[in-house]
Amino acid sequence: MNKNNRAVVVFSGGQDSTTCLFWALERFDHVELVTFDYNQRHKEEIEVAKEIATNQNLKHHILDMSLLNQLAPNALTRSDMEVEEGKDGALPNTFVPGRNLLFLSFATILAKQINAKHIITGVCETDFSGYPDCRDVFIKSLNVTLNLSMDDDFVVHTPLMWLDKAQTWQLADQLGSFNYVREKTLTCYNGVRGAGCGECPACELRQKGLDLYLEQRAEENN
Ligand SMILES: [Zn+2]
Repeated sequence: MNKNNRAVVVFSGGQDSTTCLFWALERFDHVELVTFDYNQRHKEEIEVAKEIATNQNLKHHILDMSLLNQLAPNALTRSDMEVEEGKDGALPNTFVPGRNLLFLSFATILAKQINAKHIITGVCETDFSGYPDCRDVFIKSLNVTLNLSMDDDFVVHTPLMWLDKAQTWQLADQLGSFNYVREKTLTCYNGVRGAGCGECPACELRQKGLDLYLEQRAEENN
């Protein structure tokens, strides 16, 4: 099959990467998913990713990245650490240094194996978390490096790069997958699907974006 129509989506089962999955399905004939298992705080995340992959009838690669926890224990991987927001410009303690560098590198090696030109990731600059490896300039730089390293012409897509959370809901809606994303995905740090626990920082961010989008949609319909 033509390499230009084949894509790999970096997939966590959350709102962002599930929206990216539907974005990719609209553009490419053949889509496969890759999920990284790095002893996430909640194994539930992997289960949700598996369910969505099965439900969408897509090939799903789960790669063991537990070494990440060996190198950089943090609040996403250690159940004995509370999730804390960064204060005064500091990064939140959910930050895993170099995570996207590693994930995108492995996703691209996988893309090479399955003869796919396109790699899609849900990273974005607009969620204010300040992760350096979510920045547009980093992704572009890595894209060049990956192409040089494998003498290839991969394209790393970041459909959410400049969207805020409300716009990400809007994109899911435009792709016809609003309810699917709303009900089936897991964003919550406490492992609760859909609307989540309603208390953790991830739930707050998701709910705020959803409320804003629903408000805007209601206004447009009036
Ligand atoms: Zn939550």
